[in-house]
Amino acid sequence: MTDCLFCKIRDGDIPGDIVFEDDHVLAFNDVNPQAPVHILIIPKKHISTINDLEDGDVQVMGKLFAAAKKIAHEKGVSEEGYRLVTNCNAGAGQTVFHIHMHLLAGRAMSWPPG
Ligand code: AMP
Ligand code: ZN
Repeated sequence: MTDCLFCKIRDGDIPGDIVFEDDHVLAFNDVNPQAPVHILIIPKKHISTINDLEDGDVQVMGKLFAAAKKIAHEKGVSEEGYRLVTNCNAGAGQTVFHIHMHLLAGRAMSWPPG
């Protein structure tokens, strides 16, 4: 069995609060939300970090953005705005090594991020 947390959620081995799913993408609520809306959007394929992307992964990364657009619309935050964040490696704050896009919304966002 995989020891990747997000692969386990994908496979139903641990529970996830799933908000969107298609053939290539899964999205679920973050267990420790940093904003009123905090959703993680992942490729179903295990890819550890952005550094591990291969040429064939370009399409699925586009699908993450397409899913983000759809989810933001469904959550009613498209117009007020939302932030999409992907941390790459520990120095940037990555703690789960399966690529994910954070969708954050529902509060004012400052820049630069901490
Ligand atoms: P990052 O630090 O960018 O790797 O983000 C990992 C995110 O995964 C954090 O925001 C965590 O709160 C979140 N997380 C950790 N475990 C779970 C889980 N079981 N279900 C949902 N989100 C999780
Ligand atoms: Zn994984």
